[in-house]
Amino acid sequence: MLKEYDIVVVGAGPAGTTAARFAAELGVSVLVLEKDRDVGYPVRCGEAASKDGIEQFIEPDPKWIASTISSFILVAPDGTEVKLNFDRRGFVLERRIFDYELAKIASHSGAEIVTKAYVYDLLRNGNEICGVKIEHEGEKKEIISKIIIAADGVESRVGRFAGINTTTHYSDMECCVQYTVSNINLENSSCYFHFGSKYSPGGYLWLFPKGNNSANIGLGIGGDKAKKRSPISFMNEFIDSKYPNISKLTVVSGGVPCSLTLKEIVMQNVMLCGDAAHQVNPLSGGGIVSGMVGGSICGRIAAESIKKKDFSHLKKYPKEWHQRVGKKHEMYYRVKNGIYKFTDEKLNSIAHSAIKIPEEKRTLGAVFKIALFDKPSLMIDIAKLFVI
Ligand SMILES: Cc1cc2nc3c(=O)[nH]c(=O)nc-3n(C[C@H](O)[C@H](O)[C@H](O)COP(=O)(O)OP(=O)(O)OC[C@H]3O[C@@H](n4cnc5c(N)ncnc54)[C@H](O)[C@@H]3O)c2cc1C
Repeated sequence: MLKEYDIVVVGAGPAGTTAARFAAELGVSVLVLEKDRDVGYPVRCGEAASKDGIEQFIEPDPKWIASTISSFILVAPDGTEVKLNFDRRGFVLERRIFDYELAKIASHSGAEIVTKAYVYDLLRNGNEICGVKIEHEGEKKEIISKIIIAADGVESRVGRFAGINTTTHYSDMECCVQYTVSNINLENSSCYFHFGSKYSPGGYLWLFPKGNNSANIGLGIGGDKAKKRSPISFMNEFIDSKYPNISKLTVVSGGVPCSLTLKEIVMQNVMLCGDAAHQVNPLSGGGIVSGMVGGSICGRIAAESIKKKDFSHLKKYPKEWHQRVGKKHEMYYRVKNGIYKFTDEKLNSIAHSAIKIPEEKRTLGAVFKIALFDKPSLMIDIAKLFVI
């Protein structure tokens, strides 16, 4: 590790390593600092991602694909199952290996990655931010850098050090818990989503198959609901009633900011990407691909600014993010707020109508059209998002 870099990236999740790769590819010096001892571990993720999204950044490789998904099964509170087939496929990843591969690509592009390096503050020269303060292997160090990219996850501390309000309103924070389980017999090409107040009020419960009779089973509930009852008690009730014989190999918990992208994702020479910038899809809670998209734009624009010696160029980052993804996320956010308040009766009636659509014509857009037919303003969003 040197004393000075063009760009320091804080956090080696998918957003951070993608930002580092896209910056390093333009020939600037990049350091990635990760507080944990391992890149990609512990895995706090259901690990589902779209194939199209992943392929924008990395060639699919069986070593990090646990299963390939070709259908979603939406389960209503009364147990009605609505199967949706899709051609475009999705993956359940092995994120431990996937995140490692992303880090290797970043490092092959020229970025240096250091683990067990905790960023505890920003370095300042008067009012100017000029680097980071870190604790690495028990020693305190200062690293000088022209630009700092905070890819340090939800509630980004580094963003806060720079003066950005990174908090999430509790009603937009999905409180999640997940078990990776074995001894479960699931259809290996289908992801299951359960809706309703019994197990996942203000969110959903997922079962994502990982092959060899294993799966990720998790749920996210709205922050306002989690105040009254813990997510893990919903989870255990589901497992005890549906899968009493499975083994729970790991348990993780965490928050997912299902909100709009933060108003400020650039402050002086500090840029935020991934969960730190709230670049998660607010409807699905998926943040792997959108974090990588955010990271790619962020890293490229940071490197361009260095090369042009023009920090006003950083302002292009929020604009480009908004055009490519942020605008869509605003629509997803409105749709989320429309559907997450549905009663169990309404969810059951949507499912009953949806199963009447012939399977070959049954799409997510068609189901949303049924769900939101009495909310014309949201129908426009649905039409734009799902091309119905
Ligand atoms: C239970 C759960 C299930 C989920 N399921 C899915 C899913 O199925 N599909 C999907 O797309 N998304 C899912 N998500 C969301 C997804 O995991 C995140 O959106 C994604 O990991 C964000 O990537 P990131 O790089 O922004 O942040 P992270 O992956 O959180 O990486 C941030 C990194 O920064 C490091 N760091 C933090 N602070 C510091 C510091 N001060 N110094 C140095 N390093 C630091 C952390 O150790 C971490 O490695 C899920 C989330 C949860 C909690």
